[in-house]
Parts: sequence; C-alpha cells; structure tokens
Amino acid sequence: ASDAPAQEPVVELGDMPGVARVQLEGSAALELDYGIPEKMAARIGVGTRVMVPLQNQKVPAVVIELLQSSEHRGKLKEVSSIVGSRPMFTPGLLKLADWVAEYYIVPVHRVLRAMLPQAVRDKPETFLTDSHLKLVKEPPADVLEKMHARAPMQARVIEELRRRKGEATLSELRRDLPSATTVVKALLKHGWISRSEIRVERDPFQTEEFLPTLPLTLTEEQQAAYDHVIGALQKPEEAKPILLHGVTGSGKTEVYLQAIAEVLKKGQTALVLVPEISLTPQTIERFKARFSEKKDSIAVLHSHLSDGERHDEWFKVQEGRADIVIGARSAIFAPLERLGLIIVDEEHEPSYKQEDTPRYQARDLAVLRGRIERCPVLLGSATPSLESFQNALMGKYDLVRMTKRTDGKSMPLIRIIDMRLQRRKGTGTTIANATILSEKLRTAITTRLEKKEQTILFLNRRGFHTTLDCASCGEVVQCQDCAIPMTLHKADNRLVCHICGARRVPPTKCPSCKEPGLKYGGFGTERVEAAVREVFPKARIARVDTDTMQRKNQLRDTLRDFRAQKLDILIGTQMIAKGLDFPNVTLVGVLNADTALNIPDFRAAERTLQLLIQVAGRAGRGELKGEVYVQTHAPHSPAIQFSRHNDFEGFSDQELEHRRAFKYPPYSHMVLVSSRGKHETQAEFTLQTLHKRLLQGLPDGTIMGEPTPSSLSKAHGQFRFQLLMRSDRIRPLARHIQTVMETLSPPPDILVTWDVDPVSL
Ligand code: ADP
Ligand code: ZN
Repeated sequence: ASDAPAQEPVVELGDMPGVARVQLEGSAALELDYGIPEKMAARIGVGTRVMVPLQNQKVPAVVIELLQSSEHRGKLKEVSSIVGSRPMFTPGLLKLADWVAEYYIVPVHRVLRAMLPQAVRDKPETFLTDSHLKLVKEPPADVLEKMHARAPMQARVIEELRRRKGEATLSELRRDLPSATTVVKALLKHGWISRSEIRVERDPFQTEEFLPTLPLTLTEEQQAAYDHVIGALQKPEEAKPILLHGVTGSGKTEVYLQAIAEVLKKGQTALVLVPEISLTPQTIERFKARFSEKKDSIAVLHSHLSDGERHDEWFKVQEGRADIVIGARSAIFAPLERLGLIIVDEEHEPSYKQEDTPRYQARDLAVLRGRIERCPVLLGSATPSLESFQNALMGKYDLVRMTKRTDGKSMPLIRIIDMRLQRRKGTGTTIANATILSEKLRTAITTRLEKKEQTILFLNRRGFHTTLDCASCGEVVQCQDCAIPMTLHKADNRLVCHICGARRVPPTKCPSCKEPGLKYGGFGTERVEAAVREVFPKARIARVDTDTMQRKNQLRDTLRDFRAQKLDILIGTQMIAKGLDFPNVTLVGVLNADTALNIPDFRAAERTLQLLIQVAGRAGRGELKGEVYVQTHAPHSPAIQFSRHNDFEGFSDQELEHRRAFKYPPYSHMVLVSSRGKHETQAEFTLQTLHKRLLQGLPDGTIMGEPTPSSLSKAHGQFRFQLLMRSDRIRPLARHIQTVMETLSPPPDILVTWDVDPVSL
C-alpha cells in the first residue's frame, strides 16, 4: 500500500485498513475517501484530525471511518498529514455529532467544529514549555571564586540553583536574573548544569489552595438518592436517566460528590455540567477540595478561561489525565473516555442551550451521550425544567426527590409584597417617583443591620434608569440599532443599549419633538445601590453585576468579603442568584419579581418560579432562619403564589395542564425559524416566502404560525421576523425543514436561521 508514484498517489488496497473516510471540517458536509500512507497507518484512527488534499489545497478533516477498500478503489488521493498525536474525537462523540446534525438540522461539519475549543482547533498541542535546569557538578570553591570575579552572573545562577536544592526552571531564575537565559547557555557549555524541556500547564487554579473535605454522613433522603445512583452505576445498560428534584439546600452536591467518588473507584471518569454562571470559584472549590489528592486530575472548561488555559485543560482530558471534568455547556463534548457518570446540575437553566449554530441543548445531549456511552445520567435541580419533569412523570426518567434541607430547617418564609398598594399609599423608599424598597422590606433590612445579619437584594437589571421618555410626545429613547429603550448608567453618564452595547450621551431634548422635559423611569441595580446607600448610610454595601465586576477575581473577592461578613448588604443581578451559600444571610429581597413574568414567552411563568425559588434558597442557609420578601405588581400570578410555598409540583401540575391544552412543549417540539437583515421588507418577505414553501407537504400534526416580527424586532441594526412551528414528532418536521431550506436562496444580506427546541422566544 505504499510507494505510489509521487505525482499521482494511488493506493493499492491490501488487508490493512488502507482507506480513511473523512468528513471535511471546512466547507459542506462532505464525506470523502483518502488513502492512508503506510507510514501513517499506525497513527490514524477514527476521530483523528488530518489534512487532506482537495483541489489545490490542503484542508482539515476528521477521520470518521477506516475501510479496507473503497468504491473509488484504485484512484484515491492520500492523507497529507496528521494533526496532533492522538484522535481528537472519541467514537462516542462522532456518533453524538451525527445525532446533533440530524436533530438540530445542521451540517455535521459545523457540529464537529463546535465540538473543539477554538484554541484546540487552531493551535493544537501548542503547550508552553520551560527549561528545567539541574546542577550536575558542584564547582569547587576556588573555581567558584574565579567565576565570581570573571563571570559574576554565572556564579549567581550556580548559587541560586544551590539555594533551590540544585533544581530550578529557567523562568524561576529569570524572575530575579533577567539575563539568566544567556548565562544558562554558558553554564551548559561548561557542563555545570543540565537542561531538559518540560511542559508547563496553564492552570487556572495554580495558586489556589484547597483544604481537603471528607464525605459527610448522608441524610436519609441523600442516602436514598445516592443508593439510586449507585444502583444505576452497577447496571448502566438498564439505567434510565435520573432526575433528582431536591429543594435548595437539600445537599444535591454532596450526592454528586459521593457518587463521583464511586465512579473513580471503578476506574471510570465523570462529567459534571454546571451553568456558566454557577461555575464560581465556590463550586469548583467544592470538587477540588473533596478530591484534593487528585485535584490535578480535575479539568475545568468554561468561557472565562484564557485560550491557553482552555487549550491545556482540554488536552488534559484528551490525553487521559483528567478523571473529572467540570464545565459549562460545551463541556458535554469533552473527549473523556471510560465515562462512568454524567451529571447536569441546575438542569433547568436556559444557559444549557447554545444560542449559535449548532443550537444544541447540552442537557439533552447529556442524556443522549449517556445512552451512547452506556453510562448513567443524573439531572439535578430544585426547579426541574418541565421537559425533564414530564419525562419523569411519564416514566422515561427515574424521579428521586429530596424535600428537606440537610440542616433540617424549614424553607425560608416568603412574603409577597403588593407594590401596587405601596405606590398608592405613597410609602416605601421613593426616589423620583419609583418605589424601590417597600416599607416592609426596608424595616426588615433595618432589623438585619441591628442584628448583624446579612441581606441580599436581587434585581435582574443593570444600570440606573431603565427608560427615558419625552413628557410631551411620549417618544421613548431607543437604541438606533435595536428596538429597546436605552438604560442610563450613571457612573459614566451614558445611555447604554443592553443588546448591542451602543453608548451615547443622554440627550437633553426629545430627539423626536425637540421639546425639553425628558423623564427617566425604572430602576436597575445601580440605582438600587444609590437608594440603599441613602437609606442606610452606615451599612457596608457592595453591588455585583457585570458593570462592577470587570476586574479579574473581583467577583471572587467580593463574595469572599461578604462571606467573611465584611459587608452587610449585597445587591446584584443573576450573578448572585445561583448556588451561593452564605450562612449569615437571613434576608433576601427580590426587588421586582415581574421582570421575568413580563417576557413574551410561554415559559415566562416557569422562569419566574425558577428564579424566585433559586433566589429564596439563598436565605437562611446557616443557623438562623431566613426570610424572603418578593416585591411584585402581580401578586396573584401562579408563579408567585406557588413559589411562595416552594411548591414546584403544584406549579408544574397547573402549568403542564396549560401546556397540554395549547400544545406547547413538553407536549410538542418547537422550531423557531427566523429571518433578519438590514432591510425590513426583504427580511419579512423572505420569511413569507419560506412560510409558503413550508406549507406544502407540511408533515401531519404540525402547527405553524404566521411570520411575525420577533419580540425583539430589531437588534444590531437588523430587523427580525420569526415563524413558530410545533409538532409532536420532530424528525419528519426536521427533514421537511431541511428539504425546504435547500431550495431557499435568500437575498445575500438576509440571514435565515432555525432553532429546534428554542429556550427563549
Ligand atoms: P443544594 O445543592 O441541594 O442546594 P448543597 O449541596 O449546596 O445543596 O448543600 C447545602 C448545605 O448543606 C451545604 O452547606 C452542605 O455542605 C451541607 N450538607 C450537604 N449534605 C450534608 C450532610 N449530609 N450533612 C450535613 N451537611 C450537609
Ligand atoms: Zn443597540
């Protein structure tokens, strides 16, 4: 199978797999066969990335199959080179890629690209290296003395090495001796030292210390949950995915940790998915501390790593040096082998959905990857997604409940405050006509300050004022590129668009009618901070949102200070809603529970309930009893009423009934087709055309709406239209959409996208 003429490589097929079927990474979803040169045969496997000739170029591709022979027998071009020293995809991941491609209607090469972090794809195996230096001969005293006189730097390096017990890295030496590189060369030449190249991991937690923790004695409920998982680990072929519905504080993480310990004992690996926002130092610390003797075998993958760190963490997994991977949604593609357990924490979190092509749902892929790799999957949440909960009710998943907190305390008391009354009575903390703190909440904070207990105030909006409008003509000052009001950020006195980030100096006259008398309204965290400082001038206050947490480690430091009780009140956005555990917090105030209720999405109620229950879970985690105040203008809405009693199941009964009646997910699959572009009519027309074509041959049982402007009707200067489809069965619909899309050639500046199982409309 070798020695083909140089000009036209030809493979003659013997018994060895001489042919690699590859999927090109770059262009269309194209599978091609290439011959494998004999010298590469041992190093090419399924999942190996290679460069192959195509037309007059060399392009990257992934080997998806090895064949003895090919239909194109006789005249195959050969693989040009191999990328990296090991396969980049496991067989399981290649299967997953095919499934994603079909289900989400995406060409498979786009899926393969998305599976590798960019730094891994673009610069594979570019590790940082360092020189490890060793003193091999001790220069005798007289030699050293001469050295001091003639080459003092050399003498210093020798002494430095001695001080470090004869070993150091070049970069360590260079910290004190910038010229060490040249000096070292001279010493090498004279044979005093030896050098070897070592790889340096860019470890995001290099400087962190982790105090080891021991497994806790499980509560009865935890034990039952744990036993259930262990049962699944023993019979992975029969195991169904497990939905662990555990109230906040019921100790889900402890169950995860102990189950993982069991997996590691069996010589297998574990994958833990966590929403990006909960990938806080605190979460990672809990894992690193429990498995402290193997903490280097924990790989962390999320978007706040530097490219280099992500590259190194990924290769740690690929080279088989990681037993546990903790990561955000894309970590579902981590190339772990011997997978023993996949855990998805806070499985209801919308951030598991990837919002760019391929628009996958990592939680669903976890279930699928579990099936492919025959390993159990554990989904955990205090407020499961209705999709997962419905699967559990139908018996597709096992349902395990943990209803009590580990400390045996009851859930915090939730008080609903009707802000409509506050406004009418004119009580509460009012600044420029907006009530930010109700009187009751203000009193509650005062009590906490007196008792030296802590308060969290939650508001899912950044900025100072959230609207600016004209008193004369009613014009709302909007972003020119996006159809949303701009938010005033007072710290730098700019109006900011929270969609595209556009900034401008606030106008003093109405941009439309030119009258003065513009009025600000609404409030965000910045204004809450100002109000709270005004009302409680002596309190120690910090605000946590993306505006204040710009500096690296600032979030970590602030949370640390709060935990150490150097702060009394923490004000923040969703950055503080999830997974944080502060024993001295006895009061949580939700300043406006209605922001999530008012989104034009059939999941508005579900989102509101999730948020309230999560936020409420931050109160009363320690010895002290917690209280939650929820300020709302819609006190009787089901989401607010059910969250008040922490009654997820009551809510889901009612909400599922409603979803069933209207055939919304989980009683159907939804596909959201959108068009967008700078020209409004073109964007609309494109979608109307598409709508007409989709109508023809629409699979039975599909409900299709009309094209309408999206709820965000303009963003980044582009008009947006959408079309919603629902069906019991996704596959026929997906195939239909794919076929129709292939016939569609939208104008060049109109982008048409589709999203299967969208999480926000
Ligand atoms: P969840 O993730 O369900 O909200 P956590 O795992 O954060 O709950 O646990 C809540 C608190 O209870 C943590 O402080 C944890 O250390 C503690 N905890 C968990 N399990 C136990 C146990 N078996 N005994 C005592 N404390 C526990
Ligand atoms: Zn904008």
